[in-house]
Amino acid sequence: MLEVTRLTKAFGGFVAVNEVSFSVTEGEILGLLGPNGSGKSTTFNCIAGMLKPTAGSVKLAGEEIAGQTADTACRKGIGRTFQIPRPFRGLSLLENAVLAAHYGNGGHLSHDEAEAIARDALTLAQLPPEADAMVGGLGAAGLKKLELARALATRPKLLLADESLGGLDATEMRQAADMLKRIRDERGITIVWVEHIMGVLLSVVDRVVVLDHGAVIFEGTPREAQQDEKVAEVYLGP
Ligand code: ADP
Ligand code: MG
Repeated sequence: MLEVTRLTKAFGGFVAVNEVSFSVTEGEILGLLGPNGSGKSTTFNCIAGMLKPTAGSVKLAGEEIAGQTADTACRKGIGRTFQIPRPFRGLSLLENAVLAAHYGNGGHLSHDEAEAIARDALTLAQLPPEADAMVGGLGAAGLKKLELARALATRPKLLLADESLGGLDATEMRQAADMLKRIRDERGITIVWVEHIMGVLLSVVDRVVVLDHGAVIFEGTPREAQQDEKVAEVYLGP
């Protein structure tokens, strides 16, 4: 479904992502791990059209999409969440999800269609789909759910989830991990899930890619990741 080949992104002289290659199979949950600053969000931004790669290729279902705009990527079926939630705070949960539904479908939906998709996305993210619930009432876990609901409302084939566990307690982390698994299991949405901590991610993902200083240092199963010396060094120090 997604094939990233020798993806490179430099900011001036600083190479944040350095010839990163990995692929994602349809229906898979891939964990993209790595410490802070290892290039995970930059990789997402290059895939989702927020950044233009310096070099390399990004293919979605065989079609080259590197360098396309964010709305093109979204309309082609790439949904993403942001590490720092960016909802419209003056709007209700439903209004936020309705806007995402319109955005993801190129403005071709009727109001009723957009609202139905929005309600479904909010339910899937376990948020109350009442029209008047406001963003202001949400805590960290609620904001993460809304971020997910907005991405789901664009009706993605491929969901890029960036740091879905940030700011959550242990119970909320478990729930967030189970939610991503359910989204894949019930809707067949392929997921690339970025985290800087391994934790519950390893219990849900099919495969793991680990970045360090912008380069892939490991690719394998969660079990192999737990036994890998290079991965241990990055996470625990030599
Ligand atoms: P991660 O998501 O793994 O924590 P990022 O992809 O956000 O890492 O960042 C990777 C590196 O690139 C970091 O050193 C970061 O400071 C740098 N970086 C990210 N975005 C920019 C930017 N727009 N301009 C300059 N440097 C950036
Ligand atoms: Mg990041």
